[in-house]
Amino acid sequence: MLTLRDHLIEEIKASGPISLETFMTRALTDPAHGYYIHRQPFGRPSTGGGDFTTAPEISQMFGELIGAWCADLWHRMGQPERFCLAELGPGRGTLMADVLRAASVLPEFSAAVQVHFVEISPALRKLQAERVPEAIWHGELTSLPDLPMIVLANEFFDALPIQQFRKSNDGWHEIKVGQQQNALCFVDGPPMDTAQLPKQSLPDVAPGDIIETCAASHAVVKALADKLQAKGGAALIMDYGYRQAAAGDSFQALHQHQFVEPLDAPGQADLTAHVNFQSLQESAIQSGLVSSPITHQGDFLSALGLDIRARSLMQAAPEKAGQIGSERDRLAAPDQMGHLFKVLAIASPDCPPLAGFAQ
Ligand code: SAH
Repeated sequence: MLTLRDHLIEEIKASGPISLETFMTRALTDPAHGYYIHRQPFGRPSTGGGDFTTAPEISQMFGELIGAWCADLWHRMGQPERFCLAELGPGRGTLMADVLRAASVLPEFSAAVQVHFVEISPALRKLQAERVPEAIWHGELTSLPDLPMIVLANEFFDALPIQQFRKSNDGWHEIKVGQQQNALCFVDGPPMDTAQLPKQSLPDVAPGDIIETCAASHAVVKALADKLQAKGGAALIMDYGYRQAAAGDSFQALHQHQFVEPLDAPGQADLTAHVNFQSLQESAIQSGLVSSPITHQGDFLSALGLDIRARSLMQAAPEKAGQIGSERDRLAAPDQMGHLFKVLAIASPDCPPLAGFAQ
C-alpha cells in the first residue's frame, strides 16, 4: 500500500513543492493517512505506547484545578441556567472528565452545563465518548451553540499548521516541502517582499532567521470571538510556546516519545510548532475580545491552588505522596512544564474577572 509519503512525493513531482502548511495539514488530518485520524497518540514512556503525553494525562490535579476555574467563572457570570462548556481537541476526554467531576461540587453547575467537543479524529471521538458520553461533537467550532460559553483548549493550537519564512539578503523565502531522489526535503520558494508576508507583528530578524506564522490559529480565534461575543464568556488556551514573537524554527515531530525528522514519515509522527501567544492575543484584541496577561502554566496552576490540592491528595493516600509530588513538579516546576507552557484567557468585554492571572 502506498504511504502518505509516497503520495506526497508523486504530487510534488507533478505540481512542485508544497507549503509547510499543506504538508502539516495532510500529515495530521488527511482522511486516509492523517496522524490524528488513525493513531492513538497518547501514552507515557514508562507504561509504553503512544507518542507523547499531556498535562491532563500526567495528573488529575490539572483537570481538577481547571474545573474549579470553570465553576468559579460560571458563578461570576451570574450562574446562567444553560451554558456551553466547549473543549477544542479533547484528546482522550481526560481533561473534561476531571473538570466535570471537580465542578460537580456545585450541583447547579452540573445541571446547567452542556458539553461540546470540537474534534477531527473519529478514533479519538470514540475514546472521548467513553469518558464523557453526554458530549455533543462538532467538526468546526462555528457550529457551537449560541449560549454563554466557557472554552478550553489544551495542546490544541500547537497542532495547527504553520508556514515558515526565511529572511535572506534578497528578501524573504517561504520554506516549502519538495522532493529529491524520492525523499522529501525542505526547499526555498522564490523571493518575496516583507509586504507579501502574512500580517502579524514581526520580531527583529537578521539574514538567515526563520519566522513562523499560523493562519489557522487566527481563524480559530476569530471564530471564538464570534461565539464569545454572542452571549458572553471566555476561552482558556494552554500550550507550549512563547510570550513574545521571536525568530526561530520550532517545527518538530515526536514518535514514541523521541524527536524524529519531521519529513521522514508523515502520518506516523505527531507534528507540532510552538504557539506564538503574542499573535493569538493580538488577534483576539483585534476581534473585539479582552485578554488576560500571558502567564506561565506553573504560576497559573499555583494561583489556582496546586500545592493545596497536592497536599490534600497526599494526606488521603500517603503511600502515593512521592508520585503526587513528582506530578505536581512536572506540571509546574520552571524546568519542567511550568515555564515552557503558557496560559492565556481571552474573553468577551462584559466577562467578569478571571481567576489565576496576576493583573
Ligand atoms: N487536549 C488533549 C489532546 C491534545 S492533542 C490533551 O491535552 O490531552 C490535539 C487534539 O486536537 C487531538 O484530540 C486531535 O485529534 C485534535 N485536533 C488536531 N487538529 C484538529 C483540528 N484541525 N480540528 C479539530 N481537532 C483537532
